[in-house]
Amino acid sequence: MSKIRSKNTKPEMTLRKALFARSFRYRVNDKNLPGKPDIVLPKYKTIIFLHGCFWHRHEGCKYAYTPKTNTKFWVDKITSNSERDKTNLQKLTALGWNVLIVWECEIRHTYKHNLTPLIDRVEAEILGNRPKKISMKFYELKEDEILMVAEEHVPFLRIPKH
Ligand SMILES: [Zn+2]
Repeated sequence: MSKIRSKNTKPEMTLRKALFARSFRYRVNDKNLPGKPDIVLPKYKTIIFLHGCFWHRHEGCKYAYTPKTNTKFWVDKITSNSERDKTNLQKLTALGWNVLIVWECEIRHTYKHNLTPLIDRVEAEILGNRPKKISMKFYELKEDEILMVAEEHVPFLRIPKH
């Protein structure tokens, strides 16, 4: 049994770096939110938890095994972790956050040699949750700009990527 590693684990750093490389900016281990989420993207009202498969009981995952010794201790411990996760998820959802769970095995094993599909999926989830009022505001601005530049024959408007 490896010791508890709750902060800055390698898979978490890998995920953070990949998101940073795609221009996402975030807070980490936010103590003011239920469950102290690993990654918080306020602009997209999205939270990402990077869950260790053993500690958070990833259902159907081979790493979510039950230890053969001190079985009761571990079952109680992991059951209470799992229940706390559910409560935190409910609290965060009630506060209007979109919550994504990325499992450690996805980073360590499934996508070991190519994280792109996983990061693509996470990115799509994050962008999909962008509050609608922001994009409406953006379109309003664009119209104003078109009116303002109409006589100056500006050939195109630059569209921001996000
Ligand atoms: Zn797993």
